[in-house]
Amino acid sequence: MITGKNYIGNQLSAKGTTTHKTINPQLNEENPTPFFQATLEEVDQAVELADKAFKTYRKVSGAKRAAFLNAIADEILALDNELIRMYVSESGLPEGRAMGERGRTVGQLRAFADLISSEDWRNRTIDEAIPNREPLPKSDIRKTSIPLGPVVVFAASNFPLAFSTAGGDTASALASGCPVIVKSHAMHSGTGELVASAIIKAAEKTGMPNGVFSNITGSGRVVGTALVKHPKVKAVGFTGSIAGGRALYNLAAQREEPIPVFAEMGSINPVVIMPNVLAKKAEETASTYAGSITLGTGQFCTNPGLILTIDGENTTTFISDLAQKTIDIAPQCMLHPNIKEGYESNGEIVASQKGVEVVKQIEGEIGENYAASKICAVSGEDFLANPKMHTEVFGPFSLVVKAKDQQELIQVIDSLEGQLTGTVLAEKEDFEDLHNVVDSLQAKVGRIIFNGVPTGVEVCESMTHGGPYPASTDSRFTAVGVGSIKRWVRPFSYQDWPFELLPEELKS
Ligand code: NAP
Repeated sequence: MITGKNYIGNQLSAKGTTTHKTINPQLNEENPTPFFQATLEEVDQAVELADKAFKTYRKVSGAKRAAFLNAIADEILALDNELIRMYVSESGLPEGRAMGERGRTVGQLRAFADLISSEDWRNRTIDEAIPNREPLPKSDIRKTSIPLGPVVVFAASNFPLAFSTAGGDTASALASGCPVIVKSHAMHSGTGELVASAIIKAAEKTGMPNGVFSNITGSGRVVGTALVKHPKVKAVGFTGSIAGGRALYNLAAQREEPIPVFAEMGSINPVVIMPNVLAKKAEETASTYAGSITLGTGQFCTNPGLILTIDGENTTTFISDLAQKTIDIAPQCMLHPNIKEGYESNGEIVASQKGVEVVKQIEGEIGENYAASKICAVSGEDFLANPKMHTEVFGPFSLVVKAKDQQELIQVIDSLEGQLTGTVLAEKEDFEDLHNVVDSLQAKVGRIIFNGVPTGVEVCESMTHGGPYPASTDSRFTAVGVGSIKRWVRPFSYQDWPFELLPEELKS
């Protein structure tokens, strides 16, 4: 049952009077429950509790933390249809997507539970003493990784489960030994509260300290700002807009004690299509990409928003085929009226620039919060002259660039900001020309894909979901996969420490 209240540690709390409601975008009407924005006092209580919980949680064994994560997964599954119905009513996404995302969320929690069942993830090293080394003896030095402290996680609008309350940021931070305070996303506060209730149940069942998890509701920046500024918060995880991530990064840097903000933000995910692909597989490529551009109504951070070609005899046909196949896919509902507004205004910014042609877009009546897919095209020369065309259009949109030759194609890649992904579509005959393309892409992206689509981010150890700014604020880390635990720990060395006082993981 939804209460509309915050979880301050294990307690439900609603001391404030400001409320908001979520919106059912399919029906274009408000959902019934009012959600109480946390007061600054409640924010402070949640952080103080997290700080207190940290003193014991950081010492809880890996096996017990793993049991906690597995219990969260079990409790999420136990929410069953109540969770799926809530997800659908707050996101406009179909039931199948809700179930898939729940599976991913549960899978992530269990993957982190497996990871921390042994201590290998801590990146331990042991340098044994050499007492008789000349000219000076060498000390015994052993290094491990220790958790940073309370972490604030901002839930993402576009993944109400997998990148939200118990999503990858929360799972990795809890796995590392950090308490978590979630800033729930105002667009799916009900889904957030249900998942928070599952985490609290799991914490109680597995004996975790009160304050290991809190769920804070709010909109209009007040709560998020207070959390990031709180001196006892030690790190931040974020998925959302460039403006939001950058604002929080700046806020964290301005604190008396600056803290890391791991923000995963905008990306237009360039896709380079080499000439022999257009000669041999234009139609198949157009179908595949129409599917990728419209997948999830284009509301993925890995959506292919920029397609780079070399203008040739097959390019015009390919572009018009891609545009037709894209608009032939039935329009779908967006997450929220604000997201739709952003989609339309950013789409208009790109489409109205000099030299941009709207190849095709869905015209006529569509549902209130539905997205009209759109494909635009522009010459390489015009693209290079105008960085406004790099704007992320969050939705079923792509801009196709027609470079006059390979050299201009490279210039276009070099002109881009950091991206999560880069994709190369090539035939064997293109391989010789690929080296420069790949070198340029590698400087810009976190993951490179061959003959595939960028949408779909596998959760595994080798995944990099991040990239040079503004794809993320720290390209050395990934936000997806078990490697993401590294964001919440710091290296710590013991020098000449008595063997019996060493942590277990450094004894052998
Ligand atoms: P958002 O505006 O970045 O907000 C995300 C979260 O950050 C919210 O909880 C928001 O709090 C908080 N926040 C944002 N700016 C803040 C600030 N200056 N100070 C304190 N807190 C702040 O993202 P969104 O609402 O989810 O979506 C808006 C747009 O972001 C989308 O249309 C899309 O263009 C982009 N987006 C991109 C991705 C991606 O993966 N690339 C994912 C999602 C969204 P409040 O609720 O209190 O405002």
